[in-house]
Amino acid sequence: MNHFADSVAGKGLLENMEEIKGNDSGSLFGYTGLTQLQKENSKLNILESEQGRTMLASYPRRIVLELTNACNPGCITSARSHAELNQDFFKKEWLKVLEPAFDYAEEMTLTGRGEPTLHPDFQHFLEFAGHFPIKKHILTNGTRLREISPWIFEYKIDLITVSLDGPDSATNNRIHSGLDLKKIVGDLRELVVRRYFAPVKPYINTVTTLMKSNLDVFPRMIDLAADIGIEEVKGVYLTAFSKESEGETLFDIPGKTEEIFNIARERAESYNIVLSLPHIPGKDPAGDSVHRHCHLAWRDLFAGCDGIIRTCMSPKNTLGYLPFAGSSFMNEIRNSSEAVDFRARVNGPAPGMNEACRKCYQPSCANKNLMHAFVQESE
Ligand code: SF4
Repeated sequence: MNHFADSVAGKGLLENMEEIKGNDSGSLFGYTGLTQLQKENSKLNILESEQGRTMLASYPRRIVLELTNACNPGCITSARSHAELNQDFFKKEWLKVLEPAFDYAEEMTLTGRGEPTLHPDFQHFLEFAGHFPIKKHILTNGTRLREISPWIFEYKIDLITVSLDGPDSATNNRIHSGLDLKKIVGDLRELVVRRYFAPVKPYINTVTTLMKSNLDVFPRMIDLAADIGIEEVKGVYLTAFSKESEGETLFDIPGKTEEIFNIARERAESYNIVLSLPHIPGKDPAGDSVHRHCHLAWRDLFAGCDGIIRTCMSPKNTLGYLPFAGSSFMNEIRNSSEAVDFRARVNGPAPGMNEACRKCYQPSCANKNLMHAFVQESE
């Protein structure tokens, strides 16, 4: 690990974070410096989630803004590559509807089906959030890291997640055609150097979509993270949306997957890198439930670039439409009749759930014992 990494990477940053946790309510990143309003809202939200209340007094803990579904590289890991999508961009005026929640929520996450930094007014969303105590999290493919780097420090970004699907150019560039790993790694190194000297110290991690093409080399992602000087490496499973990519999923090789995960764990321990991995197929404590307990309808609000409010990235769970929303966030968005009805059904018996939830593939709630967590060809 280089000397920049020694000072800021590893568990040092994590030790300075508090985590507000609930049993089934899903933990968010452990931020320090939350206001009393944010802390009280999070506690109430966890209570409402654990009690399964459908009408909520709490605001969401996380606001996910999908700024666009447009993406620069074509990659085999993306659902977007397999769907015919018009290019949409989140409209700045929709923020007005969501604004009341920005004083209460812990985190604004910029992610979705596209690359958020491609939004022509990307800076506006950071600036807007800067007027509130909400923490800022960007998930990016890393192609525009250099361009957004000044804003990372100007608007005090708290968390940056870069999607990297291999530790070497051959693997990564094959999965993400059009991406240049060398450039992304170079820009990440610059960011780490800049962070060393800046008062703003965003936590940086990578997320790798795990598949047969990159499983063997995954432990080397940890070498790369240590070499760059970043804190965490995450892995999530590939979900196949086409016949061609179905053979890439890890559902049918749990033994090999576990073997590689164990190598990765040892390596992460030796570098003091945080490693986050999904359950091995067949060993998910969710047993044979169609999905793990879903807390997202309580904790999160997902606002799509098409103006549709959802609970998660699944396009089928529609809870409202931003362009038609009035001025009352709590009545018309948070407790819309669709949202209240959805909460009543999402963790109930499978026949009453939305079809998307019966076949949930979202990393946080999918039951990795079941094929539909890995294959969504018909979707
Ligand atoms: S699709 Fe999955 S993550 Fe999304 S709301 Fe349904 S159960 Fe929750």
